[in-house]
Amino acid sequence: MSHYCYDRRMKKSANLEFDAAHIWHPYTSVAHPPLLHEVVSASGVRLTLNDGREIIDGMSSWWSTIHGYNHPRLNQAAKNQLDKMSHVMFGGLTHEPAVSLARKLIDITDDSLQYVFLADSGSVSVEVAIKMAIQHWFAQGETKKQRLLTLRNGYHGDTFGAMSVCDPVNGMHSMFEQVLPKHLFAPAPQCERDEDWQDEYIAEFRALISAHHHELAAVILEPLVQGAGGMRLYCPEYLRQVRALCDEFNVLLIFDEIATGFGRTGTLFAYEQTGIVPDILCLGKALTGGYMSLAATLCSQKVADGIAADGSGVLMHGPTFMGNPLACSVAVESINLLLESDWQNQVKTIERQLQQDLSAYDSHPLVKEVRVKGAIGVVDLNQPLDDCMDWLPGFIVDQGVWIRPFRTMIYIMPPYIISSDDLTTLTTAIGRILEAIHTQQVTEY
Ligand SMILES: *Cc1c(COP(=O)(O)O)cnc(C)c1O
Repeated sequence: MSHYCYDRRMKKSANLEFDAAHIWHPYTSVAHPPLLHEVVSASGVRLTLNDGREIIDGMSSWWSTIHGYNHPRLNQAAKNQLDKMSHVMFGGLTHEPAVSLARKLIDITDDSLQYVFLADSGSVSVEVAIKMAIQHWFAQGETKKQRLLTLRNGYHGDTFGAMSVCDPVNGMHSMFEQVLPKHLFAPAPQCERDEDWQDEYIAEFRALISAHHHELAAVILEPLVQGAGGMRLYCPEYLRQVRALCDEFNVLLIFDEIATGFGRTGTLFAYEQTGIVPDILCLGKALTGGYMSLAATLCSQKVADGIAADGSGVLMHGPTFMGNPLACSVAVESINLLLESDWQNQVKTIERQLQQDLSAYDSHPLVKEVRVKGAIGVVDLNQPLDDCMDWLPGFIVDQGVWIRPFRTMIYIMPPYIISSDDLTTLTTAIGRILEAIHTQQVTEY
């Protein structure tokens, strides 16, 4: 009936059976349902499966659960808010959780960022950022500035506007060619360290912005770390150059810090390592500590004034669940928790151990490169892992860990609270995964 295979110890369940027959998961096919494990609860850095096994989470549920799961303070914040009101519309009404969150976001970001749009997911916050940029110019009579310039290997979300600035190959633009707006793509940045900077690294970007600035509303990119589009790291100098070119050619700069925000790269926001600030900033993922879907788009006074320049200046967006009080309350508590914690040291300690542990795999015959930045560790292989994906997820769970290889990469970005021993379990598992792929010990799986 179904094509997926279980790992040896995995317990079949009615949920798994129904799921395989009826439910889509991220990027899956109904013709080949993916191997799934059923999670029944989670606490700290551990997920508990329906067969009683506990596995250590190396993914932070896609960058989000920075404090770990089932945190008493986040639970309490949700419960407190639940007893007051879990939701109320944001049109014509406001409430304390939204005001507190906006105040906090303005507080912890650069002084120039003064306005907050609360969006319901990262992709939506990118849509809002794009609308802000286009409206900013439109309202000032610059009606031709409607395109975007971005980088190859970028990832900005799955909705149409966001997808149109994702890497054209990874983002499968060809399938949607007729409906996607056509934006401009500069090569992915090549320079990993400022010390190696050469002006030629920005040459193509410079050529594109100088040729097209009259039709460009904004540049959008992920600062320092390109996430789902390739887990690539690049140097601050590239971003300083981009900022200068945006200023020179009158183009707004949008930073998508949905993945990098809230400490992941070693500073609260990645832009802090560059000495420059974007005009528009997208935040999401770790915003609620992984409890709920919530995102935010911040912008400067200049951007907001531009949008309002034609008198009416209405920002054309307003989702049903905008500013959801439950999500805002948890977000406020998550940020408090982060700021009260020793997160700089936690991230630094994780970074040091990742550098040490993963460098052992640098010389492995399958490995092209090991990359570490903050609490992010990437082992990039010479070949895509697609052929292994029928047995690899089961094998990985059998190592007591939750890691999700992707294209050519085995990568982890654990919760900041992870202990050294648990991190060792993760990095050791990566070594076992490499060996298993290498020797093709796959028969049992
Ligand atoms: C995850 C991600 C998004 C999309 O966020 P969703 O909440 O999945 O819509 C956008 N940009 C970056 C950099 C991301 O990592």
